[in-house]
Amino acid sequence: MNVYDSAKMADVLAPIGFTSCSDAGSADMIILNTCHIREKASEKVYSELGRLRHLKEKRLRNEESTIIAVAGCVAQAEGEEILRRAPYVDIVLGPQTYHRLPEMVARATRAGEEKNNYGRGVLDTDFPTSQKFDYLPNEGGSQGVSAFLSVQEGCDKFCTFCVVPYTRGAEFSRPVEQILNEARCLIEKETKEITLLGQNVNAYHGLDEMGKEIGLGGLIDRLSEVHGVERIRYTTSHPNDMNKDLIRAHGQQEKLMPSLHLPVQSGSNKILQSMNRRHSVENYINVISELRNSRSDMALSSDFIVGFPGETDEDFEQTIDLIKEVKFSQAYSFKYSVRPGTPAGVMVEQVPEELKDERLFVLQDVLKKQQTEFNSSKVGNVLQVLLEKSGRHASQLIGRSQYNQAVHVNASQYYVGQVQDVYIDSVLSHTLQGSIKNHVKDIESRQKSERIEGEHV
Ligand code: SAH
Ligand code: SF4
Repeated sequence: MNVYDSAKMADVLAPIGFTSCSDAGSADMIILNTCHIREKASEKVYSELGRLRHLKEKRLRNEESTIIAVAGCVAQAEGEEILRRAPYVDIVLGPQTYHRLPEMVARATRAGEEKNNYGRGVLDTDFPTSQKFDYLPNEGGSQGVSAFLSVQEGCDKFCTFCVVPYTRGAEFSRPVEQILNEARCLIEKETKEITLLGQNVNAYHGLDEMGKEIGLGGLIDRLSEVHGVERIRYTTSHPNDMNKDLIRAHGQQEKLMPSLHLPVQSGSNKILQSMNRRHSVENYINVISELRNSRSDMALSSDFIVGFPGETDEDFEQTIDLIKEVKFSQAYSFKYSVRPGTPAGVMVEQVPEELKDERLFVLQDVLKKQQTEFNSSKVGNVLQVLLEKSGRHASQLIGRSQYNQAVHVNASQYYVGQVQDVYIDSVLSHTLQGSIKNHVKDIESRQKSERIEGEHV
């Protein structure tokens, strides 16, 4: 979501003359787009700000001004505290107000003239969730072959460990037409694959052109009809919102990729209840089996939290059992960390750090083995790979299989943006190495068509 937001910030700043650059030392404006989901987020921001302060002061000595802005969820949570602790910061803005960045820059510039360009004190952390999208331009810079498109934001679920409902605000779904327009603009700019985004993307319930509410399954049907969209993914989902229609779409829509990130967090019903997840282990397993009935080759990934308050060895063992039963193709796992203001933060039975470390090690070992097993099972097979960009080595391209695995192939730029049948030769760490099946045939037909064109000339 932050990658998407950063791209949109660049888009709203373009009309007033800003373009992205890769060197902070020569930038007229630096935006730190922050995430607050896990521990130490704010400390990291303050230490990074300390570094930027030196840059800003150095530039000031050369009579060059730098606007420093802090955006995202840390900015939303800390608000004025950032301006107090780091008085050289000029703008603090939340995730729901960045469409107003040009106005903030104008205010900062005016204030700068009075304050010698040092700490211009602009704060805009309102919560008008539904407004932002009405003001964001569809037209913008290219996100590349694979792009994000935000369809839903915020969350009303209030899991006891999570800050999202406090920093991103209430759940909101964008109207269908607005989403399809943005998709068409992406397609015009080389995009082939769209990942629909939302903190709870499968809770999507937007209005279509007739004023009728449709869910994510219906939205995927509509997006599949957009000319040029070749692949669709979505993230992140909540198990309770995996409804029948979405499961149906997995079986029906060929453009919808057979991989899904469905966080479960724990395999213990006691812990799930204490997390306020509102689903049980049995519900989760049921959803997985329905999904696999709908699309048999579904690859699944998940998020896990170890060491949630009150988690016993037995609860942890149940999480391992769940992993062994479901079999994940990849996963993310975290030690529980206290987030200020959340109910779990003040629960009495906090788990000692060493025990969390131990459990994380065991859990990640099981998950890593499953990932290796899944990847190895593809060696000797042909996967459909969307080639996205150049790799680190000469003539190397990086792409993603339908199961969301990273795949490297040796091939020319000609293939970027194409879905190719790739024969998988081997697995290196988490990356598959493969070769394009029709490589030789392609080269021959390209040479032939070039010859024919040549003859016409
Ligand atoms: N909406 C998604 C998750 C969004 S947050 C869902 O409902 O599953 C992304 C992940 O960060 C979560 O799935 C969780 O595993 C992790 N996370 C969130 N808060 C955390 C905390 N306080 N400690 C450790 N991990 C946390
Ligand atoms: Fe956080 Fe996801 Fe729970 Fe919402 S559903 S509170 S985003 S973990």
